[in-house]
Amino acid sequence: MIAGIEFGGTKTVVAIGHADGRLVEEFRYLTTNPDDTLRTAVEWIRLRGNPEAVGVGAFGPIILAQDKPEYGRMLATPKPGWEGFSLSAALRDAFPDVRIVIETDVNAAALAESRCGAALGLDDVVYITIGTGIGAGMLSGGRLVHGALHPEFGHLKVPRFSGDDFAGVCPFHGACLEGLASGPAIAARWGAEASTLPPGHKAWEMQAWYLAHGVLALAAILAPSRVVIGGGVSQVESFHALVGSTFRKLSAGYFTYGEGVDFIMPPSLGQQAGILGALLLVACG
Ligand code: ADP
Ligand code: ZN
Repeated sequence: MIAGIEFGGTKTVVAIGHADGRLVEEFRYLTTNPDDTLRTAVEWIRLRGNPEAVGVGAFGPIILAQDKPEYGRMLATPKPGWEGFSLSAALRDAFPDVRIVIETDVNAAALAESRCGAALGLDDVVYITIGTGIGAGMLSGGRLVHGALHPEFGHLKVPRFSGDDFAGVCPFHGACLEGLASGPAIAARWGAEASTLPPGHKAWEMQAWYLAHGVLALAAILAPSRVVIGGGVSQVESFHALVGSTFRKLSAGYFTYGEGVDFIMPPSLGQQAGILGALLLVACG
């Protein structure tokens, strides 16, 4: 038996299962302070036995280089109490001599979509989420990409959509991708929740412009064979087709590998991607 934990900004999911991603049982609860959130997961796992390994997909930013002593430590985050908290130290105390693998939540989702979801069997896959924030997980040549710290796709600089003078909502950069195109950015710009804006609203053309620039940057650097876009904001009708056609326009016939209609797709694992990814991490992290 192995265990998986997905730490999210609002909820945490803990599960037991197998390293091939088969989930046996899971439990969802609200994320609170780090000590209580960790304790709940640890106690739930212990009641079910001794795991051989624990895979973790976590919000961040978090230090991810396995050879660093600070591996698994949270960096500056607006989430109260989490800055400086070491997930790896806490889990090692709880489960001594058990292998602990920690990744970003979006990398876990990218892995799950590539092993059992919308990018099945592909080794070069990007998973983007657009919700309260924007982030991307990346699988390149079958390996998860995270660098030494925590990639920050959401904080890319993107060119302005013509006529858009909205200041942006990112507390650090104002008008970065997340500052211009996250759910809170849409709500602040239009004075209405993204979920209430109908397909065909100007907001979606603008949204596709910003997202397509993000995809363009990823495509230029990683050349993925598929880009899976999930998160609440991506659920509006025809979103993926609109981002796809904008991406093709912007790439001007140059990024020909992105020509296929299935280059940009919705996820197929929905809410399960993160926790299945956490289990799969044990075999490949
Ligand atoms: P979180 O990032 O907190 O996990 P979500 O991924 O659910 O949350 O994203 C929440 C955002 O998604 C909100 O801004 C909400 O307005 C937006 N949203 C939810 N459903 C839809 C929808 N069907 N169409 C467009 N936007 C949506
Ligand atoms: Zn930013």
